[in-house]
Amino acid sequence: MTSKSSDVRPRPAAGIEHWDYEADVVVAGFGVAGASAAVEAATAGADVLVLERTGGWGGAAAMAGGFIYLGGGTPLQKACGFDDTALNMKAFMKAALGPGVDEPKIDAYCEGSVDHYHWLADECGVPFKASFWGEPGWEPPGDDGLQYTGGENAAPFAATIPPAPRGHVPQMQDKHVSSEKGGGYMLMKPLTDKAAALGVRAEYDMRVQTLVTDEDGRVVGVVAKQYGKEVTVRARRGVVLATGSFAYNQAMVEAYAPRLLNRPAASIEEHDGRAIQMSQALGADLAHMDATEVAFFCDPQLFIRGILVNGRGQRYINEDTYPGRVGQATLIENQNQAFLIIDEEAYEAGMAAPSSSPQLKRKPRWVCETVAELEAEMGLPEGALQSTVEVYNRHAQQGADPLLGKKAEWVKPIGSPIAALDLRNSTGGFTLGGLRTSVDSEVLHVSGDPIPGLFAAGRCTAGVSAGGYASGASLGDGSFFGRRAGRSAAKA
Ligand SMILES: Cc1cc2nc3c(=O)[nH]c(=O)nc-3n(C[C@H](O)[C@H](O)[C@H](O)COP(=O)(O)OP(=O)(O)OC[C@H]3O[C@@H](n4cnc5c(N)ncnc54)[C@H](O)[C@@H]3O)c2cc1C
Repeated sequence: MTSKSSDVRPRPAAGIEHWDYEADVVVAGFGVAGASAAVEAATAGADVLVLERTGGWGGAAAMAGGFIYLGGGTPLQKACGFDDTALNMKAFMKAALGPGVDEPKIDAYCEGSVDHYHWLADECGVPFKASFWGEPGWEPPGDDGLQYTGGENAAPFAATIPPAPRGHVPQMQDKHVSSEKGGGYMLMKPLTDKAAALGVRAEYDMRVQTLVTDEDGRVVGVVAKQYGKEVTVRARRGVVLATGSFAYNQAMVEAYAPRLLNRPAASIEEHDGRAIQMSQALGADLAHMDATEVAFFCDPQLFIRGILVNGRGQRYINEDTYPGRVGQATLIENQNQAFLIIDEEAYEAGMAAPSSSPQLKRKPRWVCETVAELEAEMGLPEGALQSTVEVYNRHAQQGADPLLGKKAEWVKPIGSPIAALDLRNSTGGFTLGGLRTSVDSEVLHVSGDPIPGLFAAGRCTAGVSAGGYASGASLGDGSFFGRRAGRSAAKA
């Protein structure tokens, strides 16, 4: 073996004299997609080996808030008093996660969602508490199990698609958001326990570098680095790639999703795009490489009570929608320029409201008695902000927002004193594009045919989100299509 470790090109099996490890199914990455693949492959009777780059299981998934996007009438939705159908779920996902969604994937995902809930809860033991969190926010501050996480109950979707909350979050007591005590841990712990109980083996500090193919072009193993030494791993049936996004690969982000440059968030440094590149070297097709999840770094309890304006002092989004939609609209459509215009009373109410993200309760930069003064201090052209506030207040007196459709309960005229929070450059996120895969998680060649022996799931693939996003879509499609990858590999 003489190739450089940076070389992503496949190695011929004929050149490998000795296999250091061997299994029916070899899974790269022990995050949500890898763990789900491992459990299903082992359940199907395969001998499974997981190769994980870090010193333990979990990946970004174990640090996550833990939302899993599920619906169609799950027991948790029903227990919390919400009706939902697979049809409504499909309609929402196709409208909100595009443009250009993979319709067969969304159909399979929605039709299989209740079954997937049962698999998570009943077969793997992921705990969900039957209580709904209805306050604005990124996630519940306590251990409530259900929340709206995509803007289903807000404009423009609520008027035409019956809304239902679909963000299912595993129960975690004494939760610490964005750490190892978030809901994501309580997804990963049961999944990896289940994998261990099924006899899945794991090798840690094992960084998969490239694929090994036989003379027919079939993937039959991987080459990895373990403690600085190159090792070979044979896969008798198939290889599953589940190594996460390319959010931390500077060159790839620059090439495919440049708006996210230098602002990775909700991802981990191990998300370096390697699985995408090693599959590209085999002719794999890609999809939606420009799509990104975008977090907005302000507490929704604050911005829902005011108006968000762009660098020209104009409103651009209904402030009561999913905060990730606010992030995308800010970064992608408004040059990352945002200001929150809010009066003192609303600001104080927002500061006092319960939240999982108190660190995002930010302070005003400018405070004035009148909109005209505020506009001048912010350096906006005369009349720009005044006309925005005048139009908003004119309709707010009737509790309406005909411009952007914010719900009446959040529409209130903006009074005085009035403040502006400077929310420019307050976004970050992760990439959503990746390998194009079939509904059975086969990695597709640019010709459209599956690459024999190669399967993938999670954020190294293009999943259910093609542009838009809903919280829970990553742990959701990672676990759902991870299971399919494991099953497909086991029977390959
Ligand atoms: C703070 C935070 C909050 C989040 N909240 C949510 C949420 O509520 N809902 C949601 O859906 N998503 C959320 N996300 C995003 C979500 O966690 C990820 O998108 C998801 O975990 C991706 O799944 P994955 O299996 O592809 O990657 P991961 O779960 O990250 O697993 C990938 C694994 O592969 C390993 N790996 C990488 N390269 C290699 C290699 N070459 N060889 C071997 N192993 C390798 C990594 O170390 C990692 O363990 C959040 C993320 C963070 C960090």
